[in-house]
Amino acid sequence: MKNNQRFFYLMTLLILLLPASVNAQESQPDLNLYLIRNFGYGGIGEIQGNFTLKIRDPLAELDKIEFYLDEELIATILQEPYEYKFHTSSYPEGEHTLIAVGTLVDGTPLKSNRITKVFLSSGQAWSETEGLIVPVLLFAAGITILGLVIPVLLSRKKDFVLGKYGPAGGTVCPRCDLPFSRFFLSPNLLVGKLVRCPHCGKISIQARASQDQLQEAEKKYKNEEPSKVKEMDDQGYQKMLDESRFED
Ligand SMILES: [Zn+2]
Repeated sequence: MKNNQRFFYLMTLLILLLPASVNAQESQPDLNLYLIRNFGYGGIGEIQGNFTLKIRDPLAELDKIEFYLDEELIATILQEPYEYKFHTSSYPEGEHTLIAVGTLVDGTPLKSNRITKVFLSSGQAWSETEGLIVPVLLFAAGITILGLVIPVLLSRKKDFVLGKYGPAGGTVCPRCDLPFSRFFLSPNLLVGKLVRCPHCGKISIQARASQDQLQEAEKKYKNEEPSKVKEMDDQGYQKMLDESRFED
């Protein structure tokens, strides 16, 4: 084998082995340290409240685990579960690094991964929470109000046809005692739908009226406003619907 060939093989071997050995050193820490939130705030990299530091799947040969905050020993645990419960207010506000160091029965030291978190004061955590929640609440409130107002405004007078009450049924106005149909898109509010009377404009919450109640109210309507009553068959109703599409 020529010298330059040998050199080539040697280099190839090194290139193949090098990343593997670097990975082996850097990848798996000996101990898998993680943080559980018991109560409090946990944003991205920021925490406040009651937390537990814990070792995932500890080895059976462990003698002890020591928990450190910024290189300072904060707890030594001699038996399972290897965990340490703490409140962020016990430590100064600001960024802290948490690690665990283990010792096996034979004296071998083990190191964990590092967890870096900013400890917030309760006031800071609340304002962060507010910053997240308040816009969401305002948005939800806005949507709710739109959902209430738009269908009520849409249920206009021209939609009223005597004897036709649509999928949500008819009801009787509590003020003018006249019948009208409950607009099916109107919001449901437990006991009934929020509706607007097309005759007098009263807004009220109405359950579906019975057939008897509606017939009673229809009689009243015919007596009070005979000029507006259009008694018609289905064909006539369809014709009126078609015409109403061209009205403003
Ligand atoms: Zn009314």
